[in-house]
Amino acid sequence: MKTIKVNIVTPDGPVCETEANVVIAVTEAGEIGILPGHIAMVAPLQIGALRLKKDDATEHIAVHGGFLEVRPDVVTVLAQSAEMASSIDIARAQAAAKRAEDALSAEKDESNYKLAELELKRAITRINVYETRKK
Ligand code: ATP
Repeated sequence: MKTIKVNIVTPDGPVCETEANVVIAVTEAGEIGILPGHIAMVAPLQIGALRLKKDDATEHIAVHGGFLEVRPDVVTVLAQSAEMASSIDIARAQAAAKRAEDALSAEKDESNYKLAELELKRAITRINVYETRKK
């Protein structure tokens, strides 16, 4: 089966360089599946799991916004932060989720409320991706 290269890059450096048969990403416009040979495009990403399907396995990577750049032979993700399942600190993500939930129930200021919603989304994404790690 054909593959497409996948590079996930953050300001801290590369998070993942691999190949996949299909890349599934959550863009601001909704979920898209990218196969090798896809037309070139750029799309903003939502906070969510990027899924890489290769042979019979699917790898989940937590990607916290940023941009997806597709070329026919390579998919590049540029994000402020991203983690593979194996590098997620689950206790930290659970603590962040709790902090965000507490802030959401107490927060009156609209912009702080929105920040807490984004923090909760990052934490939930990390918790969900952690659950998919190979044990
Ligand atoms: P926290 O409140 O725990 O810092 P956050 O969502 O505010 O979470 P970010 O600003 O998105 O954190 O990330 C800061 C750095 O810490 C990034 O390099 C990110 O990959 C890393 N990071 C954040 N949470 C975790 C986690 N649970 N496991 C592993 N790395 C994490």
